[in-house]
Amino acid sequence: LRLTHNLHVHSVVSNCAKREMLIPDIAAEAQRVGLNTIAIVDHIDLAEEPDREEAVLANRKIVEKLDGPVRVLAGSETTVIAPGVPAASEATRRDLDIVLLALNHYHLANVERPQPETPEAYAKHHLLMMRSAAALPYVHVIAHPFCHSKLPDLDLAETLAAYDTGEVRETLALLAQAGIRLEINPGHVRVAPQFFGDAVRIARQVGLRFTTGSDAHRLENIAYGDHVGPLLESIGLREEDIALPDSVARRAR
Ligand SMILES: [Zn+2]
Ligand SMILES: [Zn+2]
Repeated sequence: LRLTHNLHVHSVVSNCAKREMLIPDIAAEAQRVGLNTIAIVDHIDLAEEPDREEAVLANRKIVEKLDGPVRVLAGSETTVIAPGVPAASEATRRDLDIVLLALNHYHLANVERPQPETPEAYAKHHLLMMRSAAALPYVHVIAHPFCHSKLPDLDLAETLAAYDTGEVRETLALLAQAGIRLEINPGHVRVAPQFFGDAVRIARQVGLRFTTGSDAHRLENIAYGDHVGPLLESIGLREEDIALPDSVARRAR
């Protein structure tokens, strides 16, 4: 399995990223490790924070000045605050090359949580977040889907077990119809290979495809390790399942 893009990389514009994460150096590292496309997706977590949106949009100017062989997309990882409510405005999303939606940032104080906070309720709420995302303009990828490891009191295995397969299928079909891709993060696959294997199987049935991303916050995490190809093959992923979102590919040409 040849992986040619990493669509989840944070630059210094994200406070959680290392100070070494300067866009020219990210591009150089991507070239060094043989990637042909990379997406800089800095955080927009709070609604109506124009300064933040400006800072993320400013990455476009840096990207435009690059002249290396790696295609660099200026984008954002945007927190969804409640079903159908992304933090980034529609105008900002339109002006970015790629928008990843984070539907699982339940650890942030401004993000709606299901009540009561049971594994079943979280599974239902996360699917509702996904279905609502399918109706939004200018969104391209669901970042780290089905990742429930940010809340210390929520058991990951119990939450994944609480997903209803029929509901998952309906939800993934809606995403596929909207042209939205699901991100595969190798680190998350490793802790729940069975669940993600099922997801890949269902996705293929409904025509949903994937992007890959490592959620890199430091240069050394831009490359995928040697174990990642075999790991993704082991959950049934094939090269034809992985592709840039169509609208992103058109724009980046
Ligand atoms: Zn995230
Ligand atoms: Zn991230």
